[in-house]
Amino acid sequence: MLPGRTPGSWSFALSLERIIMNDHRKLGRELGIFDTDPMIGAGLPYWLPAGAAMRKAIEDYVHELERRNGYLHVNSPVLGKRELYERSGHWAHYADDMFPPMNVGGEEFVLRPSLCPHHALIYRSRQRSHRELPLRLAELGGQYRSELSGVLGGLTRVRSIQLNDGHVFCPPEQAAAEVSAALDLIEAAHAQLGIRAARYRLSLRGDGGKYVDDPEMWAASEAILREVLKERGQAYDEERGEGAFYGPKIDIQIADPAGRENTLSTVQVDQYMPGRFDLRYVGGHRPAMVHRSVVGGLERLVAHLIEVHGGAFPAWLAPVQAVVLPLSDAELPAAEDLLRRCLAAGLRAELAPADRGSLGARIRAHRLVPYQLVVGPREVASGHAAVRRRDGSQAGEVPLERLAADSRPFV
Ligand SMILES: [Zn+2]
Repeated sequence: MLPGRTPGSWSFALSLERIIMNDHRKLGRELGIFDTDPMIGAGLPYWLPAGAAMRKAIEDYVHELERRNGYLHVNSPVLGKRELYERSGHWAHYADDMFPPMNVGGEEFVLRPSLCPHHALIYRSRQRSHRELPLRLAELGGQYRSELSGVLGGLTRVRSIQLNDGHVFCPPEQAAAEVSAALDLIEAAHAQLGIRAARYRLSLRGDGGKYVDDPEMWAASEAILREVLKERGQAYDEERGEGAFYGPKIDIQIADPAGRENTLSTVQVDQYMPGRFDLRYVGGHRPAMVHRSVVGGLERLVAHLIEVHGGAFPAWLAPVQAVVLPLSDAELPAAEDLLRRCLAAGLRAELAPADRGSLGARIRAHRLVPYQLVVGPREVASGHAAVRRRDGSQAGEVPLERLAADSRPFV
């Protein structure tokens, strides 16, 4: 069923890497964000402390954004029985991208290719009344793709994806409003992250067996997406053969410095899976399912953030938000105390003591850190720190609480 593995083409990937400016693979390793190891496998990067800190900041931000917008969070397992994916339609339409089943005690389990089937079952686990809808479920969870090793590289193409996913279950007549609300969230998140879409793409079905064969359903779902795009005055391109197997999508495309595009965020209307799982709400009505991802997979998002910001991330996202710089060893105890107060105030902070070099050298080594807190004799006497921003401007004596508040995505 699944395509065979071709030998890895790392040497090609590496030579390509050298010609791309601000490549996230090179910078990501230099900044201690992620790395890979052939013993773990291609397309299975791990997050180093700086990357894990960024990832947590993004997770917390998106979780809060969703919470404020009516989402309920759930957690579900990263695998399920083969029957689950037969029911969802993945087995018939998406098996080429799935890992082969694992046989355990006569049952077959599959690493999940998407979170949708689990969320459909969570919807179905209770009787749902009209009043409960729209039911918006969100989860940041693992999904897995059996990519060939030849196409893998860095964080943009991986086999293990931490996806910011969500599904809105609503009466079909509310689907347009929910699609539009999801686009609002996506646009808010992009502004917060400092990224800009390359373009919006209306991704439609193509020919062949990869797509559910139900022309009326496709036409109805496409009409919803077109209506929303028109109402928002949003420019977009149409592309056939880019839809999900169960329905059309609005994909928000991003581009890397070499101009190569990837889909980051997406909103999709699905009137297929609700039927496959026989989802209903009181009265026997069938809900529609709006699939959406506000920031996509965290791997691809962080790759893009590295390339866009070149490591100088917005303060709320920076792996280290503040560095404490004592002028000399004499200020070390005061600097250690300041570091403790930074950490207690919620800042990601570290200390660069005087034995690491001159003040200028230490400032250069921490040039990507948003706030540099210099502690000299005057600061020891006053009990405050002189705040220097990474652009070289002086912010003077700023209370730590203020600094911490300025380093959060929500106030
Ligand atoms: Zn989904």
